[in-house]
Amino acid sequence: MHNITVLSGGMGGARFLQGLLHAIATGRLPGVAADAAVTVVANTADDLWIHGLKVCPDLDTVMYTLGDGIDPGRGWGRRDETWSVKEELATYGVEPTWFGLGDRDIATHLVRTQMLDAGYPLSQVTEALCKRWLAPTLGQGVRLLPMTDDRVETHIAITDPEAPSGRRVVHFQEYWVRLRAEVPAETVVVVGLDDSTPGPGVLDAITDADLVLLPPSNPVVSVGTILGVPGVREALAATKAPVVGLSPIVGGTHVRGMAEQMLTSIGVEVSASGVALHYGARSNGGVLDGWLLDTVDAAEVDRVTAAGIACVAVPLMMTDVDATAAMAAAAVELARA
Ligand code: GDP
Ligand code: CA
Repeated sequence: MHNITVLSGGMGGARFLQGLLHAIATGRLPGVAADAAVTVVANTADDLWIHGLKVCPDLDTVMYTLGDGIDPGRGWGRRDETWSVKEELATYGVEPTWFGLGDRDIATHLVRTQMLDAGYPLSQVTEALCKRWLAPTLGQGVRLLPMTDDRVETHIAITDPEAPSGRRVVHFQEYWVRLRAEVPAETVVVVGLDDSTPGPGVLDAITDADLVLLPPSNPVVSVGTILGVPGVREALAATKAPVVGLSPIVGGTHVRGMAEQMLTSIGVEVSASGVALHYGARSNGGVLDGWLLDTVDAAEVDRVTAAGIACVAVPLMMTDVDATAAMAAAAVELARA
């Protein structure tokens, strides 16, 4: 196997990629060349414009994580961050104050916004930013592709007793960051998704892959949005590569994040097998050939297998890079089996 393509969200996807790259570099993946190329197709539906800047949280989380610039405690944004701009904006009374942009991080958004203003598509902007962040891993052939160059934004409908209609629609980031996903999500609407076009290289990355991996990213607002870009599901259906996913639900809950709220809002059972069945077997119009779930959920293996998806239970907690590398190795083994 030489070409591995990963459909990634932010934190869950980035951590998995760290483990995958470590596993490749240390020769832990059976049948995978030491110079294997990894293409990351990243969700861009979390993107937002704020204070005049274009912010792409999932692209940046992947970029900073793989480039060793991430704040390891928060799991997003830059390490050794300072917050002077945020404080100054708050002193001016500028809204919104709930979305924190750190000073170092702002440099990324300035470069991105200027390039977009100059007419470059997001894919080219991302490539330019990655020259800095992925330079050490480029030798390993890592590419980061936005799922689309088009503007696509996830919005969440929530109950709001103070609104005349009793409901309100907020940007995904407002739901996640300001409301901390503490109120139920009634509906998830991904504005612009149906009319979007896959970014340059996205469909080829799936079609030409030797292995496609769905990391333990949010199945609705990360992987779900990538799958919703017209053409992506068709490419997955047609690729000769096996498609293997890793469960983001362990023991009936997300480890961190908000997969639970999102799955509930679209009526999918919050369990490792529930997510597998939601993705569906490739042999039956879905996207999966194989599925890894955590050992605590081993009792659900039969349910997944019965749906036509090869399934194995292995530890799936990304506690450190070694544990995560072992998850990547298990995914490769399942793909080969
Ligand atoms: P986001 O864009 O930052 O929300 O990140 P992703 O969509 O890539 O991943 C978020 C999801 O990762 C969460 O909803 C969790 O379900 C999952 N997750 C986080 N940590 C772990 C872990 O250690 N193991 C597993 N199996 N899933 C995890
Ligand atoms: Ca995200």
